[in-house]
Amino acid sequence: MSRKYGRLLRDLRLKAGKSMGELARHLGVSVTYISDVERGNRAPLTKENTDKAAQFLNADPRPLYMDAAEWHGAFELEANAVSPKAREVGASLMRDWSELTDKDLEEIAKILGKKGALFMLSLPRGFPTDRPLSYAKIEQHARRVCSIIAPTRLVTEALPGLGLFEHLNTYTVRIGDQSVPLDYEVKNFPSGIDALARYEEQEQEIVVTLSESTYENLEGGDPRARLTLCHEIGHAVLHTRELLRLSRISHREAALLRGEKPSHKTYQYTEWQANAFASAILMPAQGLAVLETQGKLSQSAVQRCYEVSALAAKIRLKVYQERKNELLR
Ligand SMILES: [Zn+2]
Repeated sequence: MSRKYGRLLRDLRLKAGKSMGELARHLGVSVTYISDVERGNRAPLTKENTDKAAQFLNADPRPLYMDAAEWHGAFELEANAVSPKAREVGASLMRDWSELTDKDLEEIAKILGKKGALFMLSLPRGFPTDRPLSYAKIEQHARRVCSIIAPTRLVTEALPGLGLFEHLNTYTVRIGDQSVPLDYEVKNFPSGIDALARYEEQEQEIVVTLSESTYENLEGGDPRARLTLCHEIGHAVLHTRELLRLSRISHREAALLRGEKPSHKTYQYTEWQANAFASAILMPAQGLAVLETQGKLSQSAVQRCYEVSALAAKIRLKVYQERKNELLR
């Protein structure tokens, strides 16, 4: 089964600046449904919904039809809402499709008009992972990741939570000479699970998954949801090796589960790193330095500026004040 349809749909959606939630609501389906289609875990949208989506995203539906046809192994021609003549021509096409010469096809193409525009895909970039990680190293990772998945964000601005999540596929983590792309999805989790990062063996990618409620909270700008997301991104980019290993040992869904009790040191280690990463990407030291120069550095200012909880701001400020020089290097 081809993932092209889902990838293209996502690409068009991002280009149109729409979130998965917005598209889902427009089509009257769940976010999980859209997420599954985008990741190729579910068949392409119906012809009707493809048209509706294309219109909503201000895009040509034809490349989507092509990719849907690749998935199904056949093109879908609407036969009910058209004239008898159209049905007749459709049936003739079915019969003679494979017999048409290039010249015949060119004639038909001329009648039907020119082909749609080509679609540009952003090139993924990455960096090698490295352990153990100091505060300074984590700060650098956070800066790098942010510059790729949220390139327009200023250091004194809050992270665009939803925008961040839905740009994770522009990022690739490099370990040794292996490149592991990132991806994102929404799932209908049992309650108690907010998010997780896992290695998808079949697609050979790291997937950050949010529960539907975490996704909704992220849409609503909830500070906790943003922290949860950044923690998982931390795992995805800092613990690629661990995720790869875990996916082969135990069942994948259990990997680095949020809220799971740390059972040994490595877990504490990765949890500490993921939290430090979340803190660094949400409240960059460079931004704190700007606030400091302006004489505005306080817990409440940090909380307001970065839309984080009071506790998150307090912890971050303490680290910043103790390690300023190290973090700003
Ligand atoms: Zn964790």
